[in-house]
Amino acid sequence: MSLFLELSGELECTACGVLCEKVIYPANCFDSGCKYIYSYDEGNSTYFGCLYKVFGVEIDLGGFHELEKRKGGFGAVKVVGPPLDHCSINVERAYNREQCEESCRRALIEHFSPRR
Ligand code: SF4
Ligand code: SF4
Repeated sequence: MSLFLELSGELECTACGVLCEKVIYPANCFDSGCKYIYSYDEGNSTYFGCLYKVFGVEIDLGGFHELEKRKGGFGAVKVVGPPLDHCSINVERAYNREQCEESCRRALIEHFSPRR
């Protein structure tokens, strides 16, 4: 995980001028058997979402299953609320891991340096 997001507990970070944000793969919510997934039918479709609004979007279940069959799967959605302990959170990084760690280190030094 990106250092700055890990230390600050925020959901997104722009400390070094780019954007890194926490995301979650809804497929992991199903895999973990999370009891906080809700669903409802509307018209001919079924939609699901997170009862705790860790992610805010409601997703078409049919489309989700179709994409999950393909390479890359459905993918991730933005985290908009505080995750629960069992939520499998990832960070969508603006840079690759090494560049991100370097930028985080510089941003943390800047953040914690005494003001002149
Ligand atoms: S509580 Fe966490 S694991 Fe459960 S549905 Fe919400 S985001 Fe997914
Ligand atoms: S690279 Fe680090 S400091 Fe820069 S936006 Fe991402 S998490 Fe924040």
